[in-house]
Amino acid sequence: MIRGIKGVKDILPDEVGRWQLVETAARRLAEVYGFREIRVPIFETTELFARSIGASTDIVEKEMYTFQDRDGSSLTLRPEATAGAVRAYIEHNLSASPTSQKLYYFGPMFRHERPQAGRLRQFHQFGVESFGCAEPAADIEVISLLWRFFSMLGLPDLTLEINSLGEAGDRPAYKEVLLEFLKKHEEKLCQNCRRRMATNPLRVLDCKVPECRAATEHAPKLTDHLSAAARGHFDAVLAGLQSLAIPFTLNPRLVRGLDYYTLTTFEITTTHLGAQNAVGAGGRYDGLVETLGGPKTPAVGFAVGLERTVLALPSTAVQTPSKLVYVASFGLQGQPAGQRVLYDLRAIGIQANTDNRVSSLKSHLKQADRLGASLTVIIGDDEAAKDLVVIRDMTTKEQVELPLSSVANSLRTRLNTA
Ligand code: ATP
Ligand code: MG
Repeated sequence: MIRGIKGVKDILPDEVGRWQLVETAARRLAEVYGFREIRVPIFETTELFARSIGASTDIVEKEMYTFQDRDGSSLTLRPEATAGAVRAYIEHNLSASPTSQKLYYFGPMFRHERPQAGRLRQFHQFGVESFGCAEPAADIEVISLLWRFFSMLGLPDLTLEINSLGEAGDRPAYKEVLLEFLKKHEEKLCQNCRRRMATNPLRVLDCKVPECRAATEHAPKLTDHLSAAARGHFDAVLAGLQSLAIPFTLNPRLVRGLDYYTLTTFEITTTHLGAQNAVGAGGRYDGLVETLGGPKTPAVGFAVGLERTVLALPSTAVQTPSKLVYVASFGLQGQPAGQRVLYDLRAIGIQANTDNRVSSLKSHLKQADRLGASLTVIIGDDEAAKDLVVIRDMTTKEQVELPLSSVANSLRTRLNTA
């Protein structure tokens, strides 16, 4: 037997209801906020990710699925979608539009990580990117969308953590102060962090190793080294969140795993997910469009991990009353009459099903129960001869007769008022 790949999961029909609920909510909310969908490719040139995410990040150093195309060029399965969205934004000159470009996307991402609960090698994200606005209002709009999304779905104990990484110009001075501190505590840091000190010292703050976290607990904070403009921006974002009554926690360690972030960064966590409890994260990336060869364009966005969101979704969110109609037809005349009823019900958008392998009323009713039908239409030869059907309420077991010709319309009314 050929098995699927480690860390790459099937989403089976029994789970798909939860996925559809989450995806529908995401799509609706993004549209309500004025975002429009963009669909970017699943693979791009390796250079795009190396240049945008940053050469000395975990993703680019060890997590990318990179392969050589037949002409020798290097391609990579996307580990995230912001790089692709920015490339498309530049390539199709979307910056020339007189309206601000607010985009959203869905789709699979690929990272070669150690598979565990909530951490896969193919996983799915929903995300938004808001281009062209440097004002704190854009950060607030995006964060409020993210917060509302998880709140709407009823995810338990949500926490919004927020930090400011300052402008690109604030970093060098801070890096020095931080390095000075890290050097004093170097012997307590993991091998990875010692290496990061040389390549990307900010990432040390993000290390999950408990000893590293303890060693850096009193590290100097980036937020104490912000320029006046960066400080002003951060304060305005926080004030905006306060005025919308969106609760947040300041987390000076939140540096995020991608190099392109500037100013605001944020992450939302929920409970019951164990160690992998971040369901969504994002931030501002004012330099990225220019880095990739486009015009200077401020931007802010987030990405939601859909696997973790689906895992954290309370079961009450998924229990919608069934509107399924099962058609139980049998006998020489009954069977074709049943076909007709199914055809007519489906024509007016009623969810209708049968099991074509089954030919007795008893087995039909068993299948109707298994499928969770709310009503069953029964048609045997006797009913067909009289142009009648019997409607059975699967909960109360009550049965009523109806003329065959009026089934579709009566059921529509009955289901809509149920
Ligand atoms: P983490 O710290 O959990 O590794 P990250 O900083 O790598 O997250 P982002 O790149 O910002 O995550 O992606 C946003 C969201 O995508 C995360 O909050 C998480 O919910 C989800 N995510 C990231 N990597 C994975 C993965 N390997 N499997 C499943 N979901 C993931
Ligand atoms: Mg990660």
